Amino acid sequence: LGLTRADLDALPNYVPGRSPADLARELGLPEAIKLASNEVPYGPLPGVVEAVTEAVAGVHRYPDMGVVALRETLAERYGVNADRIATGCGSVALAEHLARATCLPGDEILYSWRSFEAYPIIAATTGATSIRVPNTPDHGHDLPAMAAAVTDRTRMILVCNPNNPTGTALRRAELDRFLADVPDDVLVILDEAYREFVTDPDVPDGLATYADRPNVVVLRTLSKAWGLAGLRIGFLVAHPEVAAAVRKVVTPFSTSMAAQAGALAALAQEDEVRRRCALVVAERERVTEALRKLLPDVPESQANFVWLPLGDRAAAFSAACEARGVIVRPFQGDGVRVTIGTPEENDAFLAVAETALG
Ligand code: PMP
Repeated sequence: LGLTRADLDALPNYVPGRSPADLARELGLPEAIKLASNEVPYGPLPGVVEAVTEAVAGVHRYPDMGVVALRETLAERYGVNADRIATGCGSVALAEHLARATCLPGDEILYSWRSFEAYPIIAATTGATSIRVPNTPDHGHDLPAMAAAVTDRTRMILVCNPNNPTGTALRRAELDRFLADVPDDVLVILDEAYREFVTDPDVPDGLATYADRPNVVVLRTLSKAWGLAGLRIGFLVAHPEVAAAVRKVVTPFSTSMAAQAGALAALAQEDEVRRRCALVVAERERVTEALRKLLPDVPESQANFVWLPLGDRAAAFSAACEARGVIVRPFQGDGVRVTIGTPEENDAFLAVAETALG
């Protein structure tokens, strides 16, 4: 029709994980296993469903646009002032708001590739130019090359730590050096969606280590470890001026009543979150070890998923998994990302992997 931007035709769609109900129906199985969207498999945290149910009794009213109670709770939990926090409809929305708040058309957003598939979409839809720096041969960010790629037009750098989809994590010394090299007028976004699964003490917690730098923003989500993917809630910690700019460009009321109530209930369950993360981490180690017998260059993961660098075999491997009722996430020509599920789900996946790769 010519009614929408022509350049959108060239842009990839964000691909959600396939529905396990659809696949089960197609295969005639009682159920399928979804290991494709980095969700935690243990159901909603205790108290969340009740809190959301109670909150939605008032849905004829708008939610609190200032998100005051939740921002104050987050501020206390993470030891920062509430004026440094902004919430959004998932951290992916906050990444987009940051791009909107920093970039004019033609400005550059820099990131490692391969990384989170939303980054190129965010750059393109906000009119910024994507500058991609290839990952190192061991699937991590090449920080020296990223620092060297900064130009006068660079407004924002996305650093995904641990990286989705490869699970690799940056260590303190290399991040220190990188942040020292990046000019002060470039905003560095530390996307820590998977922070709660990190076990290596050399991988710095961005909030504890770098959040006081004016040009650093730490992005967190409640979708993964906190089990709220379906409610769509993420937050960022930034310099008060940056946080205020984000709150200005945010779609009004985009942190829903249900999201605010669910997040407050989830944050009260931190012990249970830790317990669940420990189960996921133990399974991550077990799955990695088993996979390395089939594919020795599976990188160490600090997240709740593992990366199989299968190159051209990625699509065929993913199809073989789906044919056996296991949904994984292929990245054509590059690799396959597999979320850590329950021990039974992981066993089912490993059995398929052994057949397909053994
Ligand atoms: N950042 C990274 C690195 C992710 O992998 C994801 C989810 N896939 C997000 C951000 C977005 O998460 P959400 O929008 O659910 O908060």
